[in-house]
Amino acid sequence: MTSTFTRTTHRMLIGGEFLASSDGATIEAVAPATGEVIGHFPAGTRADVDAAVAAAETAFGSWRRTEATERAAMVNRLAAALEEHAEEFALLDATDNGSLLTEMRRDVAAAVAALRYFAGLALHLRGDTVPSGTGRLTYSVRIPYGVVGRIIPFNHPLMFAASKIAAPLIAGNTVVLKPSEHTSLSALRLAELAHQILPPGVLNVVTGWGSEVGDALAAHPRVRRLAFTGSVATGLTIQRRAAENAVKTVTLELGGKNPLVVFPDADLDVAVDAAVRGMNFTWQGQSCGSLSRVIVHDSIHDAFADRLVDRVSQLRPGMPDDPDADTGAIVNPGQLEKVLDYVRIGVEGGAQLRTGGDRITDGGLAAGLFVRPAVFTGVTVDSRLAQEEIFGPVLSVLRFSDEAEAVSIANATSYGLTASVFTRDVGTAHRFAEDVEAGYVWVNEVSRHIPGAPYGGVKNSGIGREEDFDELLSYTQLKNVHVRYDA
Ligand code: NAD
Repeated sequence: MTSTFTRTTHRMLIGGEFLASSDGATIEAVAPATGEVIGHFPAGTRADVDAAVAAAETAFGSWRRTEATERAAMVNRLAAALEEHAEEFALLDATDNGSLLTEMRRDVAAAVAALRYFAGLALHLRGDTVPSGTGRLTYSVRIPYGVVGRIIPFNHPLMFAASKIAAPLIAGNTVVLKPSEHTSLSALRLAELAHQILPPGVLNVVTGWGSEVGDALAAHPRVRRLAFTGSVATGLTIQRRAAENAVKTVTLELGGKNPLVVFPDADLDVAVDAAVRGMNFTWQGQSCGSLSRVIVHDSIHDAFADRLVDRVSQLRPGMPDDPDADTGAIVNPGQLEKVLDYVRIGVEGGAQLRTGGDRITDGGLAAGLFVRPAVFTGVTVDSRLAQEEIFGPVLSVLRFSDEAEAVSIANATSYGLTASVFTRDVGTAHRFAEDVEAGYVWVNEVSRHIPGAPYGGVKNSGIGREEDFDELLSYTQLKNVHVRYDA
């Protein structure tokens, strides 16, 4: 895969201006599929975050007074601009992130849909009237917070950059967006398009390291609303830092170790196919919603495992723009090492590595960060393989003997993001949906998100819901007005 973005220098967007970082430092963008440097972007500083927050505060004065329909029109124009540049964005993300171009095209489409979804809700930000007696009127209105900080991870760069700014902007907030230091290019390109549509300071994009830019945003006393998507460890740090300087509303979309339970009455072929799709190998397993623990009934376990291993062993890693590839490159060397470490941990812990789990070190993919998709069987519920989020192409198979045990294994981690169950028995399906500790449950389905359906986790997987009307409301506070008009 050759890049068309080689060694361009990118700039942050702060207060309507394209800027280098205040100290001139930069970060290299490296294509994980080739090892090629594809650009440089600013390593922002605390001073840059201060400048972005100040610009966002200034812009808030008029953005909050802009008609809701006008704000929606601008967000719709941003959606149209993305659509117009869809192929450019998909290629940019595939190059910068290593995931398949086909998937990154879907990401652009999902971003466009999210922008339009929230734009369409602009006039639904309504308050209430409360019965309050003669000569009085009591009503509530929804007001924006002001400056919203939005910190996002590497796995869906453009999709998160675009879709996660939609709700705060529609609700009348201004935004400081911090993309991942591993995949910042598409957010910076988005900033260029937004610059032509949104007033200066309404959207600011500050790139850089999490420990500098992310931390400054989390701790900033005038960022009253912070939304984070990323790992549990960073989420915990952000909660702590956010609480140090101001009272803030913080929502967290964190990781998962999500179960897919297969009951004996499920169609085996359908369930095997779902287990492969549910692991999101097309993103190298780098997805919070990946169903990375497949929990299979004893009576079908061996047949299921054999077919699953067979299917996964046929998945072909390839260059992101190779239309025949089933899986792309891991995002960076640190993430690659983490995946290989977990493969070692699994083997040493006594689980059976049935396929994959090795780095590709020869042929056309040797210069990139490619790992063959892995399946472990014989994984025990307390093992690290079954407990810890790997965020890579490693699928663990566990077994259960009755429904109670299936639920107990499904719930036996600190996470609670997604879950899936395969059964033809409506009672089994509903009992599982009721008892599983997860924020998003699929029955005879995997991976699909529906715009408007709440997405988010319970337990350590997060606080808050996104992709739905609640996300929009979460960027507002209620103000009550009590009027006495016969005084
Ligand atoms: P990460 O936590 O390492 O980084 C996420 C973002 O936080 C990056 O922009 C990073 O620069 C920033 N950051 C890092 N340290 C920081 C600090 N001290 N203060 C403030 N910001 C800081 O996560 P990642 O590796 O980029 O992404 C993978 C994780 O994201 C996985 O755990 C995955 O499950 C999770 N995720 C969750 C969802 C969801 O919707 N629940 C979606 C996608 C990814």
